[in-house]
Amino acid sequence: MSDPKKRAEILDRIRDRGGLGPGVAAEVAKETGVAEAEVYGSGSFFHLLADRATKVRVCTGLSCAMKGAHELLARAKDAGLPVSECSCLAACDRPPAVLRDREVLAEVSIADVDAAKDWESLTSAACPTVDWRGAIGAEAAEGELAMNLGAEPNWDGAAFAKAEELGADRVLDELESSGLQGRGGAGFPAAIKWRGVRAQEPQPHYVVLNADEGEPGTFKDRELLLRRPDLVLEGLAIAARVVGAQDIYLYLRGEFQAPWRSLEAALAKFKAADVFGDLHFHLHAGHGAYICGEETALLEALEGKRGMPRLKPPYPHEHGLWGKPTLINNVETIACVPAVVVRGGQWFKELGRTEAGTKLYSVSGHVARPGNYELPLGVSLDELVEAAGGYIGELKAFSPGGASSGFLPASERQRPLDFASLPQVGSMLGSAGVVVLNDSVDIKWAVNQQLRFFEAESCGQCAPCRIGTRFEREALDRFVAEREQGETGARRHLEQVEEVAWEMVEGSICGLGQTAPLPLTSAMRHFPEEFSDG
Ligand code: SF4
Repeated sequence: MSDPKKRAEILDRIRDRGGLGPGVAAEVAKETGVAEAEVYGSGSFFHLLADRATKVRVCTGLSCAMKGAHELLARAKDAGLPVSECSCLAACDRPPAVLRDREVLAEVSIADVDAAKDWESLTSAACPTVDWRGAIGAEAAEGELAMNLGAEPNWDGAAFAKAEELGADRVLDELESSGLQGRGGAGFPAAIKWRGVRAQEPQPHYVVLNADEGEPGTFKDRELLLRRPDLVLEGLAIAARVVGAQDIYLYLRGEFQAPWRSLEAALAKFKAADVFGDLHFHLHAGHGAYICGEETALLEALEGKRGMPRLKPPYPHEHGLWGKPTLINNVETIACVPAVVVRGGQWFKELGRTEAGTKLYSVSGHVARPGNYELPLGVSLDELVEAAGGYIGELKAFSPGGASSGFLPASERQRPLDFASLPQVGSMLGSAGVVVLNDSVDIKWAVNQQLRFFEAESCGQCAPCRIGTRFEREALDRFVAEREQGETGARRHLEQVEEVAWEMVEGSICGLGQTAPLPLTSAMRHFPEEFSDG
């Protein structure tokens, strides 16, 4: 049996050789003692390793597609660039986004493509730096925000020192009274997760940061890592002390080169001041797979395997990384921890409107100032968009929590954007990646963008998800094609959509398969006139 730590290196070794070219799997197998078939099987799962020919990837997520991503892709193909499309690059506020090798370029235009001599010389005239930051809310009055993206980072480690002084039990009490719910999408109470790991028998415990942000419409973790890496690292250090871990793994999506550099610089600053003592931080890059945002898929990828979600139970707090108790939290969840420790749980809780704390809302699409806005949890769409400079055009629909949340009509614009209110109308807050569509958008076209995303990113291990994602997209394609040709009876192509959606919800292991039909089923429910026989 191969050494698990060596196995964990195989994906990086494939990356260092430029991807899975001829002979690469055999070389890596020889170096690591992992069977060649396993090396190949793991590497071929990841977009950035399997396809070494592509050097330029155009994001065709909804917000980029609304800004001409498909036209950009076609132009790049015509220009002979080694290009393909890719899933969301967490740059929805500055579309269209392009991945050049592993660097994200924002606001790339057709003129930029025309000016490029080859893929290496492709740049964005509108946004020439690859370390760009997006728009954020206006500076808030001191004390109103838990994260405060606009504030200068703080390197004195005061929150970590306070946590040491309080001790693990008091920190857990504050976390519990804060009401902090996981910000990655599920909204699970953070204190319960932390207590679950702490309660396990003495043995190596791990802390893992989930920075594999890839839900279309969501780009808050990117901004936190760029602007406030201090909060993220301090939150992780506090978490490690509380659950009894020494090793902390930070899993960043492979396209997050700029956030990676930001974290490296922050780690160097804390290390120079010897703030975190004997804690070890390990930076780990993903290799292109949306599904690795699912926590158990992420753990598989960290172990050097295909990023396929595990069956649960057991949950990671009992059986996580290398089978050990593991705390895995989203970037934003962790970034809230220093404020909870320093200001107290009750203070954090009262920041919220309908639920505890503030929330980073990413907003893109038809708004004047797309960006990230830290607001009381539970504001409405109208309030969020007011912070973002107002609507462009007449609101038609919105997606409140990324592709997985489906579409809601304008009539829901006053509904609280929180974990409890959105499920009442068949949606969810998810990661709070809000995409706004005005009445110039054909909702069927928008649905198609989301369905194509899920079809491309299904890991394929469950038949209902693997087959269902394709079925739903093809059903819509057939309906649209016949309706555009003026044929009668096109609606028959949508007759099985609800039944297949039910099978996907019931038969899929993870949230991807369970939510993938929602863009179509929610749009059919809320915009029936667009799905009629015409
Ligand atoms: Fe993979 Fe889809 Fe099954 Fe999730 S639901 S494990 S993405 S096949």
